[in-house]
Amino acid sequence: MAQALTGLVGWRGMVGSVLMDRMAAEGDFAHIEPVFFSTSNAGGALPAAIAPFGKNETKLLDAHDLEALKRCEIIITAQGGDYTTEVFPKLRAAGWKGHWIDAASTLRMKDDAVIILDPVNLPVIKNALAKGGRNWIGGNCTVSCMLMGVGALYKAGLVEWMSTMTYQAASGGGAQHMRELLTQYGTLNAEVRALLDDPKSAILEIDRQVIARQRAMSADETANFGVPLGGSLIPWIDKDLGNGVSREEWKGMAETNKILGQGEGFGTAATPVDGFCVRVGAMRCHSQALTFKLKKDVSVADVEALIAADNAWVKVVPNTREATLQDLTPVAVTGAMTIPVGRIRKLAMGPEYLGAFTIGDQLLWGAAEPLRRMLRILLDA
Ligand code: NAP
Repeated sequence: MAQALTGLVGWRGMVGSVLMDRMAAEGDFAHIEPVFFSTSNAGGALPAAIAPFGKNETKLLDAHDLEALKRCEIIITAQGGDYTTEVFPKLRAAGWKGHWIDAASTLRMKDDAVIILDPVNLPVIKNALAKGGRNWIGGNCTVSCMLMGVGALYKAGLVEWMSTMTYQAASGGGAQHMRELLTQYGTLNAEVRALLDDPKSAILEIDRQVIARQRAMSADETANFGVPLGGSLIPWIDKDLGNGVSREEWKGMAETNKILGQGEGFGTAATPVDGFCVRVGAMRCHSQALTFKLKKDVSVADVEALIAADNAWVKVVPNTREATLQDLTPVAVTGAMTIPVGRIRKLAMGPEYLGAFTIGDQLLWGAAEPLRRMLRILLDA
């Protein structure tokens, strides 16, 4: 499928921009004939950020123009769920047989869709491709980053269950959420700047003024998160499923199992995965503390060796204070393809109970990278 006509939708959003960067860095544009679509500027010239990648098409096409979309052999979209919901069914109903690669969650759990994370589930992807699969959907960012880190334990059949407690960054919500967090930090700092500048000021007075300002934040100041996130946290992400579980928490088990090709839909038992998903005041990178109940007692050294050998991006961080502070923080991991896994140790509950902590840049492995790698798999097929 070399030089396949490939439609790119959502290239200027947060995920889309990272995707363009990665595609450029890996030379993907040399292997495709790209066409760029827009929901907001159809007919406009390709902006400077993508102009170097345009070949024959130098204008933005209308992302709702079914005829233009139908010409593409492959469409990659990071435009969002509303776009997928609106356009995808119409395109298929119009007889389009091309490959649809999507960052949005809309189609993830459909029977004819594969959640793509090829370092973890290439056999599942290849199997679906052989059977004529055409819908390739990127996974939830937290789940994808987790499996890039500790997928080896699942592949080795060692996991009886897993609990994950997440610390998810503002960027998971998109650009506006990151701006809101930073603005809140600035507002709080400004509120007590004079006291901070005076080393003799009372810390409890600073604390009192900060909490008063947080509680006084207006609807405008918290438009995206609903409550202050700067200097606080929010233990609920995504929709309320009505049974005490958030949609983000539900995705943990549903998507982990689907990616691994097990559980409902595969005629095998699912591995229980559950825990709490928490939004914290980090800018980018989702972190998670994992608790495993292993099926048998495996030494920490063996667990570390399994994880380290699983793929080219995972990195075991020694379970020391120094290495953790150096390599296992969102600040250290932002912008990196590396997925560090640290704090690996046996827990007090017994020899089969294992703890670990992992962090991933959710715009890379959690969003953009699996999409561009799926493109390359299709081009090589
Ligand atoms: P986003 O930044 O809001 O971008 C989506 C679209 O919004 C853009 O393609 C653009 O479309 C339009 N847009 C409007 N105003 C814009 C502006 N000022 N700057 C840039 N774009 C603007 O969304 P996203 O976070 O990339 O997410 C895209 C999809 O990926 C969603 O389905 C999301 O759930 C999924 N996803 C996100 C993450 C994450 O960590 N953020 C991770 C995994 C999956 P036009 O150019 O057509 O106007």
